Amino acid sequence: MPKLDAPVLIAGAGPAGLSAAAVLAEAGIEAIVLEAEPDLPLELRASTFHPPTLDMLDRFDATAGLIEQGLIAPAFQYRGREEGLIASFDFGLIEDLTNHPYRVQCEQFKLNQLLASWLAKAGRTEIRFSHPVTAIKQDENGVEVTCAAPDGEVPLAGKYLIGADGARSVVRAALEIAFDGFTWPDNFLVVSTPYAFEDHFEDLDWVNYFADPEEWFFLLRVPGLWRCMFPTRPQEDEADIFDPDRVRARLRRVLDRAGPYEINHTTLYRVHQRVAARYRGGRCFLAGDAAHINNPLGGMGMNGGIHDAVELAETLVEVLGGSGNDSLLDRYEARRRPIALDYVNRLTIRNKRNLETADPAEQAAFRAELKAAKSDREAERAFLKRVSMIQSLEDAAALA
Ligand SMILES: Cc1cc2nc3c(=O)[nH]c(=O)nc-3n(C[C@H](O)[C@H](O)[C@H](O)COP(=O)(O)OP(=O)(O)OC[C@H]3O[C@@H](n4cnc5c(N)ncnc54)[C@H](O)[C@@H]3O)c2cc1C
Repeated sequence: MPKLDAPVLIAGAGPAGLSAAAVLAEAGIEAIVLEAEPDLPLELRASTFHPPTLDMLDRFDATAGLIEQGLIAPAFQYRGREEGLIASFDFGLIEDLTNHPYRVQCEQFKLNQLLASWLAKAGRTEIRFSHPVTAIKQDENGVEVTCAAPDGEVPLAGKYLIGADGARSVVRAALEIAFDGFTWPDNFLVVSTPYAFEDHFEDLDWVNYFADPEEWFFLLRVPGLWRCMFPTRPQEDEADIFDPDRVRARLRRVLDRAGPYEINHTTLYRVHQRVAARYRGGRCFLAGDAAHINNPLGGMGMNGGIHDAVELAETLVEVLGGSGNDSLLDRYEARRRPIALDYVNRLTIRNKRNLETADPAEQAAFRAELKAAKSDREAERAFLKRVSMIQSLEDAAALA
């Protein structure tokens, strides 16, 4: 194995890769983050940060930055398109379990920027842009990564590699790890508009899920904009989906009004439910979307990826610091993979089904579940622990 460039190499400067780098840097461990793009990606994807994620990111000054650039959402609600408010839930009820009893609504690229600037100040991490990882090899002493940099191939050596390189992970492919699951036939369309829906729906929260058997949708607020997400039908043509008149027609089904809707962005996403068959291959680990992907109903993908990154990096700190041996690293997969499979995957599939179902018995069961959660303080706290992902972290810690 050639001379070590850094103890830890990280593929991907997304929320998972940068969170892992921050935990390592805080412990004085150097890392090189290899990012395929020439800069931090500015994609509009996640916008919801859950309470335990805010607790985790606080120590890197990121939570204060997200609050400053985002919106605090103390409550969220479920509605029926026709029936109006079904139930609203307030995170204040679990304020004893978190320092941040609310969601923060803020675009995920702002987290990447905040973490990158914290890392620059902390001084232990180098981010190399335009360095896509193309190949890896490893032995009992370390791992060697090849990047296709602009001036040619660059080899780098580390003791461990974190594959946080997203859903199409090259690290996962190089380790020949299966990504089992399925892709939904309906794509999701996200439309952003500055229109003030809150002036027309009574008691709207900043996060609102609307059930409807014809076309469910959600309304999520980020500063200055509402993000509206709709399912599209498998047979719909992409050009039709993006046709501004049709986009406006979808918005008019949210709220029928005389004037035209101003539209700032429209993006169409393929939606999957997949979990990697293994999170570890020797000295290489998968985290974030490289390890699991799910539909965005419930806002658990990025949040879960950050939880992976923190768990994995904290375990690497123990092992590299000498207080744990290599076998401790198996604990990462033992804790985090069942959460992706049995918790995030199951809940997000159920969230989708609850909003879209046309079956009266399922509609009634969903409403009965919400009513039961609202009927008793302990039941409501249990519900809030589940949707905020606090429960997932407690479950993970109990696993190994
Ligand atoms: C519409 C939508 C809404 C969503 N809303 C939410 C939400 O509210 N809450 C939530 O928790 N999640 C949400 N998600 C999911 C969330 O966006 C992802 O889970 C999150 O981006 C995963 O972070 P990551 O760091 O694992 O991967 P990514 O953000 O995909 O980052 C991976 C990085 O790796 C880089 N890369 C790729 N290949 C290579 C390579 N070979 N070498 C080096 N670098 C590479 C990429 O350029 C990228 O920068 C949403 C997703 C969508 C599509």
